[in-house]
Amino acid sequence: MAQTVDKHVVEKAKEHVWPHQLPWVDVAENNGFTVFASAKGSTIVDVDGKEYLDGISGLWVVNAGHGREEIAEAIGEQAKKLAYVSSVQYTTEPTAHLGHKLAEIMPGDLSRAYFCSGGSEAVETAIKIAKQVQAMRGFPKRYKIIARRGSYHGMTHGAMSLTASREEKFFGPFMYGVSHVPAPNRYRNDFELEGEAGDIMAAKFVEQEIINQGPETVAAVIGEPISSAAGVHVPSPKYWQMLREICDRHGVLLIADEVINGFGRTGTMFAMEQMGVTPDIMTIAKGLTSGYQPMGAAVVGPKVFEVFESQPDVPMGHLLTFGGHPVAAAAALKNLEILEEENLVERGAEMGVYLRERLEELRNHPSVGDVRGVGLLQAIEVVKNKEKKTPFAKNDKFCKVLGQKMTEKGLITRTWNIVHFAPPLVVTKDEIDRMVTIADEALTEVEKEMASELEG
Ligand code: PLP
Repeated sequence: MAQTVDKHVVEKAKEHVWPHQLPWVDVAENNGFTVFASAKGSTIVDVDGKEYLDGISGLWVVNAGHGREEIAEAIGEQAKKLAYVSSVQYTTEPTAHLGHKLAEIMPGDLSRAYFCSGGSEAVETAIKIAKQVQAMRGFPKRYKIIARRGSYHGMTHGAMSLTASREEKFFGPFMYGVSHVPAPNRYRNDFELEGEAGDIMAAKFVEQEIINQGPETVAAVIGEPISSAAGVHVPSPKYWQMLREICDRHGVLLIADEVINGFGRTGTMFAMEQMGVTPDIMTIAKGLTSGYQPMGAAVVGPKVFEVFESQPDVPMGHLLTFGGHPVAAAAALKNLEILEEENLVERGAEMGVYLRERLEELRNHPSVGDVRGVGLLQAIEVVKNKEKKTPFAKNDKFCKVLGQKMTEKGLITRTWNIVHFAPPLVVTKDEIDRMVTIADEALTEVEKEMASELEG
């Protein structure tokens, strides 16, 4: 008879859970697959009781902070009351309330939400809305999407086609008709321009690409207002204002992907508020529920939706079984209530200023080339040569060792050549001080131990 072996939970995870995007060597040799057991505020605790500061809010997700009993209770109550109805023809009370709430807080006239379960699905939905709306407006040949180099829009096939780091060798050919243009970058500008001039040139490049592709073939332009994946470069609002004008001029829809930026991460509820621009479609997820339930949405305004009102027998050709899930909607509603009642967006903006001041001190390190960001979306870039801004590959040994050291010292974040600092909006000054001290110590150690990796 087979014997039941009561394995330690870490062994169970290593044998039976497939980690996302983690090289197997990290699981097998580097003890890189940690099992967490609990969390509160900005602190997470693993199964062995070790505490870590959450320097990246999970994955830019847990804006309201960990351990929110009010959200857990809202989830439990809704699950007891009504856990699911079909998303095809029906909806539920919390989903209706959430749609209404989003219409109140989202920029401009964005007021109708197509709900889904996460960021990639939100982007898939946005792409399909853009294509179908163009076709229904009488432009069936407008199917192309222009995305930006460095950007990340998710890992399902359509979303991955827009993601700059898509892996052709495994997954190509990708969705037809996607092209990538330069993105704002004031540290290493593609056009060797300084400041806003570089952002403006990047915007002009979008127009050039539309003209080059043929405006009659382009459905949409997509970008994150401030892209984490591209390295947290904050563009001038002028960049987005120009994109708005360019898209309008050429009949192209503008999609703002606020999956990371939304819900207070950048110091305002949505980053597009700072840009002074309302996109045609906005994608949201992550901070919508602060991660207490999986949920996302593609949200449009009346100018986009009117096509479905004028052709009322044509539905959106899209269906997600869990779209608008009532338990997720209940979590989102409670999360938004907390953000408002505790003024967490304003608090995040204040803590962002403090975090930035502290991170600036790290510029003294020979390997810290740049410090940038806005709100609680901050990052440092480590470089081989500060003067020449020589980049490290994102998985360079220097970056790996730096990341390992920070984790050992009790700080969880994403450490490639860009080291992210994006704690929950409830983070305290003391926690920020501890995060920066850990980063400082880890940088000092790695710079000493791996001095030969640094040039100059
Ligand atoms: N869009 C952006 C800007 C993202 O950063 C991400 C994930 O990090 C996604 C889309 C995909 O979201 P998800 O991982 O929830 O599918």
